[in-house]
Amino acid sequence: MTPVCGLLGEHLGHSYSPQLHALLGTYEYRLYERPPEGIEELMRDARWTGLNVTIPHKRAVIPFMDELSPAARQIGSVNTILRRKDGTLFGDNTDVYGFERMLLRSGLDARGKKTLVLGTGGASSAVLAALGALGARCVTISRSGENNYGNLERHADARLIVNATPVGMFPNNGAAPLELTGFKRLEGVLDLIYNPARTALLMEAQRLGIPCMNGLYMLVSQAARSSELFTGNPIPEARVEAACRQLDFSMRNIALIGMPGAGKSSAARALGLLTGREVRDCDEEIAKRCGETPAGIITTRGEDAFRRVESDTLRDLGKLSGTVIATGGGAVTREENYAYLHQNSVVIWLRRDLTALSAQGRPLSEARGVEKLFSERKALYERFADASVEADSDSEQTARAVLSAVRAAMEVI
Ligand code: NAP
Repeated sequence: MTPVCGLLGEHLGHSYSPQLHALLGTYEYRLYERPPEGIEELMRDARWTGLNVTIPHKRAVIPFMDELSPAARQIGSVNTILRRKDGTLFGDNTDVYGFERMLLRSGLDARGKKTLVLGTGGASSAVLAALGALGARCVTISRSGENNYGNLERHADARLIVNATPVGMFPNNGAAPLELTGFKRLEGVLDLIYNPARTALLMEAQRLGIPCMNGLYMLVSQAARSSELFTGNPIPEARVEAACRQLDFSMRNIALIGMPGAGKSSAARALGLLTGREVRDCDEEIAKRCGETPAGIITTRGEDAFRRVESDTLRDLGKLSGTVIATGGGAVTREENYAYLHQNSVVIWLRRDLTALSAQGRPLSEARGVEKLFSERKALYERFADASVEADSDSEQTARAVLSAVRAAMEVI
């Protein structure tokens, strides 16, 4: 009989665990949404073999465990439970292992280094346990502690920063727990958040040329360790790596940029059919929000007013996951749109021969001329694009070319 495993938490709407465990193991994986008072009944229900545990139950399950692993005991939190053959419950915490793997994968060396660990929750305890074992010199930053966000200058000599707070996590994208510019000796930034793929903190690190990494590898590694516990079968590193790539690919948006008339909307629809992804067209979203088409807004209220609405719309679309986003031709003209798109999307520039671009019904192309518009924007398309695709063929072929470009770009971004 196929073993039953699953995830216990209170609200599991956005969980990637079922998708992830389907890549790692051969058990049935269910979601168990329970309020705190529903935990006891589930612990006594002998139909499941293994559980992952998420907020807010990681401490609450401890009294039901017959044995705790050293990691779970050390950090006082259980994120994995195995029901052994004799019916006893073994509680483990795989976040310590997950963070160790993430650190190793990042290539950063924490040994002996001053490291700021932001936050004092369960994730922070796991990070501190892993870093402590390596001999890093950790300082915990807490909103209410002796070392807090008001006296960070004390720690301007920090070499590593680990974000173990939820600041910047979906749906509060764009927020960052601190600014990095004051840390002149910084060698790396690790953010445990994986949605969005690039938090504001990681975007700043990238801008400053500081090596950085998000929490996806930790998520997959800790899940793999729990899967090993459920089945007793070791999971080779290559499978963890492949699961990480696959999850990353399915979580990322594909955003299309390019000149007006380059075929972004039709290529987006074709990509939707090809991949089964939801398609969101920025111009259509704007028309829905404003009750007026982009061309109408530009004609009646001017380009600046339109760009503001467009940025607001891109800010919301950019937070999505696993979606195809068709942008308007001028989406690259506002700097803030760079972060809105790049936080979670692979951005593909659709290039089409200028002579094939129609200006009809497009007020900016009509007013300035397609060639002038392109010369104003070419450098911006280059800056925004992770890759570009020739879009001179039909939309289905273009969609296939985009998909290949996305896969290739994800190897390097
Ligand atoms: P948590 O208990 O909700 O929060 C951790 C700490 O963050 C809190 O104790 C608090 O510390 C600080 N914090 C909360 N809100 C804040 C705010 N608005 N501003 C500044 N600090 C704030 O969360 P957790 O379970 O430890 O997880 C932390 C993060 O790690 C989450 O984003 C979670 O998704 C992520 N995580 C990722 C993985 C992975 O596999 N990648 C695994 C576990 C957790 P102070 O009150 O002391 O400031």
